[in-house]
Amino acid sequence: MRSRTPKRKATAAAATVLMNSTRAVFFDRDGTLMEDAHYCGDPAQVKVFPCVPDALRKLKEAGFRTFVVTNQSGIGRGLITLAQYRTVEAEMLRQIGEGLLDASYFCPDAPGVPSTRRKPEPGMLLEAAADFDIDLAGSYLIGDKSADIECGRRAGASTILVQTGYGAEQVCRPDFTAADVVQAVQLVLERAVGKGA
Ligand SMILES: [Mg+2]
Repeated sequence: MRSRTPKRKATAAAATVLMNSTRAVFFDRDGTLMEDAHYCGDPAQVKVFPCVPDALRKLKEAGFRTFVVTNQSGIGRGLITLAQYRTVEAEMLRQIGEGLLDASYFCPDAPGVPSTRRKPEPGMLLEAAADFDIDLAGSYLIGDKSADIECGRRAGASTILVQTGYGAEQVCRPDFTAADVVQAVQLVLERAVGKGA
């Protein structure tokens, strides 16, 4: 059907979608928003990086939606329980503060199990895009692993590799690199201003 639509009409429809859509920044959790604690099941180990709340606040003020997208194969591997994951997530949200994240998506699948959601698969971003009417082409994925960057790329988002967590040892081709999540957010905001958004 779409290919049969007259060209002028298709362009107008595309413009309407663009105007109505919302941009987002998707954050990996471990090594990006907080220190990487291997298969973290203990809220006492949660250490959100300094200035993350301030950076998220600036993104919200600029009109971005903000999401966490995190692989949690520790659940699928039987190393942590879903309840433990929830307590860790609650502590992270407590340290970040109210109202700065729109939603958090996690994938419990272990490697080797067919999964459309486990990064580098883009399933979690596609879910969020459907749930919140997100324009993925105008959105960003910020993470510390090549699987994050590949996930963002497959979803059609721009990608930023941070050097925290495992970032320094990754071999991949992100659109941008940044020292940490605060610098990555600065980059997003500068680009948003540059585009007159
Ligand atoms: Mg990570």
